Amino acid sequence: MYKIPMAHPIVEMDGDEMTRILWRQIRQELLEPFVELNTEYYDLGLKHRDETDDQVTVEAAQATLRLGVAVKCATITPNAQRVEEYGLKEMWKSPNATIRAILDGTVFRAPILAANIQPAVRTWKKPITIARHAYGDVYKASEIRVPGPGHAELTFTGEDGAVISAPVHDFKGPGLLQAMHNTEASIRAFAHSCFRYALETGQDLWFSTKDTISKTYDQSFKLIFQEIYDADYRAAFEEKGITYFYTLIDDAVARVIRSEGGFVWALKNYDGDVMSDMVSTAFGSLAMMTSVLVSPSGAFEYEAAHGTVTRHYYRHLKGEETSTNPMATIFAWTGALKKRGELDGNEALASFATRLEEACIATVESGCVTRDLAALIGPAARAVNTMDFLREIRARLA
Ligand code: NAP
Ligand code: MG
Repeated sequence: MYKIPMAHPIVEMDGDEMTRILWRQIRQELLEPFVELNTEYYDLGLKHRDETDDQVTVEAAQATLRLGVAVKCATITPNAQRVEEYGLKEMWKSPNATIRAILDGTVFRAPILAANIQPAVRTWKKPITIARHAYGDVYKASEIRVPGPGHAELTFTGEDGAVISAPVHDFKGPGLLQAMHNTEASIRAFAHSCFRYALETGQDLWFSTKDTISKTYDQSFKLIFQEIYDADYRAAFEEKGITYFYTLIDDAVARVIRSEGGFVWALKNYDGDVMSDMVSTAFGSLAMMTSVLVSPSGAFEYEAAHGTVTRHYYRHLKGEETSTNPMATIFAWTGALKKRGELDGNEALASFATRLEEACIATVESGCVTRDLAALIGPAARAVNTMDFLREIRARLA
């Protein structure tokens, strides 16, 4: 049978547990029969990360910068229990943190919608994509437990020795202190990623912070976004008929709930962490949430938003049948293949990816679903195991 060729490779990052098994099944059932897959393979499975002292993760991220497109399977972030389970040399860092540190940029998360899965918010008709800044704020903060009365101030000492300081509080008793930071370079990269993503997907961009209270920190985010929009993107947005809209985060929350969806909502690191869980849960399921890291240099790394589904894996190891939802992992592949197709002018590849997505959604809408979705759909659903679900998709695709 004819297979669609790929002139340039994508980076393929393999992963762990149940998603590693899904990875193989998706490749065999849905990709290899139709596409002459061309990938540069990196095994980010925990065992191999340990064997290579985690160098494989660094190499995979560097390859992503070189090739421009990557698809990643979910991976274990080791904790003490995993160190024992796998006999690890060290408690290696989260692969996503390592990759993000090399690629920089912004994580975009968007739900996959199906007509028979109703969002908890009745007015939502189109996806809401959360764009989360992936650097700084409370995730890189320094904290002190204040033991008793005393004076606290914030001090910056420049390389030239110049000192800037601001009083924080005169403590009358015990309390707490926290100092967080961000860099202008990272905020600028965040803004560029958001504007580009909105243009590419033809959606309005919303951005919200608490600039009325945080008159230096949050206000600077707002001003940098506005400056970059005016200088580099306003004309392209107007030509495309999309808008950039800034509003206070409280106002944004109210508007999001009353909206129909269909826009990108950019948020600072903590706001994005919290709001993405709220939005994904309200759309239905973590197993239906896609994720892409867009670097300011123009590299794209696609993955599912969920983890390695450990509980299902242990059941699989015991020989029990599992019904794990492969949708988000399939959409990671289609996202990457579509992007490769666009970059290479390979229309056959891009249109194959679109048809595969359509076949997936049509399968779900027919009521044939994995167990997690059956619970959301109700009596009209027919719950199947993962392999049967993939076969149904393949039959439609063929
Ligand atoms: P998880 O793998 O996302 O799974 C949590 C629960 O959500 C599962 O037990 C399952 O519920 C449900 N679920 C998630 N994905 C599903 C799917 N595709 N189909 C059906 N149900 C699904 O999160 P976790 O158990 O907290 O983490 C497991 C491992 O994944 C950890 O080692 C963690 O480090 C790693 N992780 C990796 C990433 C990443 O690589 N991006 C992200 C998050 C976590 P039921 O058991 O009730 O069916
Ligand atoms: Mg979170």
